[in-house]
Amino acid sequence: MRVLFFSSQTYDQDSFTSAVTSHGLDLHFQPARLTEDTAALAHGHEVVCAFINDDLNADVLKRLADGGTRLIALRSAGYNHVDLAAAKHLGLAVVRVPAYSPHAVAEHAVALILALNRRLHRAYNRTREGNFSLHGLTGFDLHGKTVGVVGTGQIGATFARIMAGFGCKLLAYDPYPNPELLALGATYLELPELLRQAQIISLHCPLTEQTQHLINSQSLGQLQPGAMLINTGRGALIDTPALIEALKDGQLGYLGLDVYEEEAQLFFEDRSDLPLQDDVLARLLTFPNVIVTAHQAFLTREALAAIAETTLDNITRWAAGNPQNLVEG
Ligand code: NAD
Repeated sequence: MRVLFFSSQTYDQDSFTSAVTSHGLDLHFQPARLTEDTAALAHGHEVVCAFINDDLNADVLKRLADGGTRLIALRSAGYNHVDLAAAKHLGLAVVRVPAYSPHAVAEHAVALILALNRRLHRAYNRTREGNFSLHGLTGFDLHGKTVGVVGTGQIGATFARIMAGFGCKLLAYDPYPNPELLALGATYLELPELLRQAQIISLHCPLTEQTQHLINSQSLGQLQPGAMLINTGRGALIDTPALIEALKDGQLGYLGLDVYEEEAQLFFEDRSDLPLQDDVLARLLTFPNVIVTAHQAFLTREALAAIAETTLDNITRWAAGNPQNLVEG
C-alpha cells in the first residue's frame, strides 16, 4: 500500500523507515505542506500521512479522495486541522496518535519555565560575548509557587507531576477533573480564579470552539501582575496580539510559546534569509522575557519512535478492516 507523507522532515524519514520493516508498506516522503496546491501529489496513494500544519479542509480532502486516497493517517495527537464532517461525507477514514510521549511535551513546558525564570537565553548570549555580569538575571525559587494547569489530560497530568516535584502548589482547570491531579493535592477552580491565583500558567487543553482564544485581553487582565504564561498546546488557544499589550504594561512577566496561531506558514522551515512578514511574531520576539520555540515540544527520540510505530500500526489495522485510533466528528 502506497503512503504519502506531507510536511516530512529528515527526522520523520529516519523514524518511519526504521519502524516500517515489519509493516510491509510503501512509504513516500514529500517535504511540501499539504494544501489545495499540493494535494495532487497524493494521486494514487491510498494513504496520506499528515502533520499538524497540513491543511485538511473540505477542498483538500475532496482532491485527496478524487485521487484515490482512502485514509488520512495523522502523525499527531491534535486533529483540529481536519474537517471531520467533510472527511466523513467523502468516505475518508481519519486516524491519529492519541498518545506518544506526554513526557516530551510536559518536559518542554518545564524547560521554557526554567529558561524564562533563570534567563538562560540571555545568560547564554552574554557569556559567549565575554559579558559575565549578572545584572537583570535574578530569578525566583519555583518551590512554593502556585502553578495553574489548564487541561489535565495526559500531558497536563505529566506536567503537574513534575511541578509537584519542584514543591509547587497546583491549581487546575478542566471540565473533567483528573483523580491523579487530586491525588497530587491540586485544587480545581474555574479559569478566572485560577488565573487570579497562579504565578505560572501552562496550557495543555486541545483547541476546540470552546477553547479558541481562551486567553485574551480580558483573561490576561485577570493575571497576577508579572505572571508567567506557557503555551505548548495550540497557538489559537491565545489571542496573540493581546499578549503584546500585556507584555508592554508588565501584566505578563514571562511568556513561553511553542505554538503560535499563525505558525502554519512559518514553523518547521529555515526562513533566516527572509524578512519576517508576521508583525505580531516579530514584535513578540523583541521582548527579553519571551521565548518562542517552533513547535518542538514533541521532538524527542522516544516520541518520534512511538509516533512512527502507532501510525504504521494504525494504517495496517485499518487496511485489515480492524481500525484503531479513529477520529470521528
Ligand atoms: P488529552 O486529551 O489527554 O487531554 C486534554 C485535556 O484537556 C482533557 O483532560 C480534557 O478534558 C481537557 N479539556 C477539554 N476541553 C477543555 C476546556 N475547554 N478547558 C480546559 N480543559 C479542557 O490530550 P493531551 O495528550 O494531554 O494533549 C493536550 C494537547 O496538547 C493536544 O490537544 C495538543 O493540542 C497539544 N500537543 C502539543 C504538542 C506540541 O508539540 N507542542 C504535542 C502534542 C500535543
